[in-house]
Amino acid sequence: MGFGSAMVRSSVVYASDDVKIGLEVHTQLTSLKTKLFCRCPSDYRGKEPNTLVCPTCLGMPGSLPVLNGKAVEYAVMAAIALKSRISKRMVFFRKNYFYPDMPKNFQISQYDKAGGEPLARGGYVDIESPGGSKRVRIRRIHLEEDPGRLVHIGSIDESPYTLIDYNRSGIALLETVTEPDLSSPREARLFLQKLRSIFEHLGIFDGSLEGAMRCDANISLAGGVRVEVKNISSFKEVERALNFEIMRQRNLLDQGIRVERETRHWDESRRITISLRSKEEEQDYRYFPEPDLVPVIIGEDFIEEVKSRMPELPDDRIKRFIESYGLPKYDAEVLVSSKDLADFFEECVKLYDKPKVISNWLMSDLLRHLYENDLELSESKITPRKLVDMILLIDRGVISGKIAKKILPEIILKEKGPYEIVREKGLIKIDDRQLLSRIVDDIFARNKKVVRDAFENDKVVHYLIGLLMKETRGKADPILANEIIREKLEKVKREYAL
Ligand code: ZN
Ligand code: MN
Repeated sequence: MGFGSAMVRSSVVYASDDVKIGLEVHTQLTSLKTKLFCRCPSDYRGKEPNTLVCPTCLGMPGSLPVLNGKAVEYAVMAAIALKSRISKRMVFFRKNYFYPDMPKNFQISQYDKAGGEPLARGGYVDIESPGGSKRVRIRRIHLEEDPGRLVHIGSIDESPYTLIDYNRSGIALLETVTEPDLSSPREARLFLQKLRSIFEHLGIFDGSLEGAMRCDANISLAGGVRVEVKNISSFKEVERALNFEIMRQRNLLDQGIRVERETRHWDESRRITISLRSKEEEQDYRYFPEPDLVPVIIGEDFIEEVKSRMPELPDDRIKRFIESYGLPKYDAEVLVSSKDLADFFEECVKLYDKPKVISNWLMSDLLRHLYENDLELSESKITPRKLVDMILLIDRGVISGKIAKKILPEIILKEKGPYEIVREKGLIKIDDRQLLSRIVDDIFARNKKVVRDAFENDKVVHYLIGLLMKETRGKADPILANEIIREKLEKVKREYAL
């Protein structure tokens, strides 16, 4: 086969609209005080390993699970928010597997076949993807327990041993399974962001906690088979892992090599997926009803009662941002993609009544710096007060917008306020006409030919203004700089004419 035909084949058959991605998202209900089936505390992060445990979450023989009622309430809230059909009677199933993260050798989960009834089926989430609005269908939502945490030294396939921390064992997880409606890694990230924002608005989940939302992805390319990628721990990782996996499968298909149906592991440090095991079939898990838990009846009145105290959800908040703050739809979408960011925005508007100005600062500069520093907004040092103070310094003519952009990273990373930073760094705007005038004289003296060119060409005038900015390290008041340079040019021009 010639090179030419391979090129045609890859571009025609494996175009990106032939990518199908479905996600299984595990969300810890982090607002719960205790685990799903026992009274052990759920705030395991940063705790001494294997201290928040009891016979139940260690899977000791004879221990019995007791369902956390608040977990059911939170799960019902999530199902309502995703417009899913809630089961009238849900049951728990045992998912059997032999692996050190689950000491009783089964996970208490839910199942949608063999008489199983998960918490809810159906529903959807709308996302704004680059190609327009898109509806991502939900297949089912269910409750299950988190396994223990396995800690590897270095990479999973090279680690000489595995450490196990059962503090996480038994934490309540909400599993949300989508239909394979996503067609790019970017859409997968947008979906996860929206899901996170919905759960945060419900107050059942804090997405800034490490590992609180993890996902597995099923990816298939036309002409290939479904490959599952496990262990994706953040939004950034989801895009990376999916991009890698699509590229890997595409390369195999292009070379005429069969893609194996298997489970792969995303290795965050090496940024590759590695083969773990051939994919288990559902029957391998020998699902059967959990005999130690009774079915849960979810009454219509309970659902109505929960509905009556549902908080404002992202889609409604987006509408409100457009209507009451006059924001473009795009701005509203980006701001509400994170509850923290949307809250931050509204706090700023209370202090400074120009929503679009605030939105611009948040969307372009703030988000970029947070992303570059790999920080959550809540981890940064910026507050609504500090951002507004910075904008006020520009309004009052103390600094230029350019300087504000320059100091923003420091406002984000350090305790100091904006005024303190500009004063310490000597960045306060130069609006001393005499001083600027002297600098301009000096520039003109050194650039005689440029000055003459500037008589005819406005671009060259801007070049001269640029030189002044460079000389003052961006501190010259831009309006004044423009004025002084144009005045002086007129003067020199008259002198030439004489
Ligand atoms: Zn326990
Ligand atoms: Mn699961």
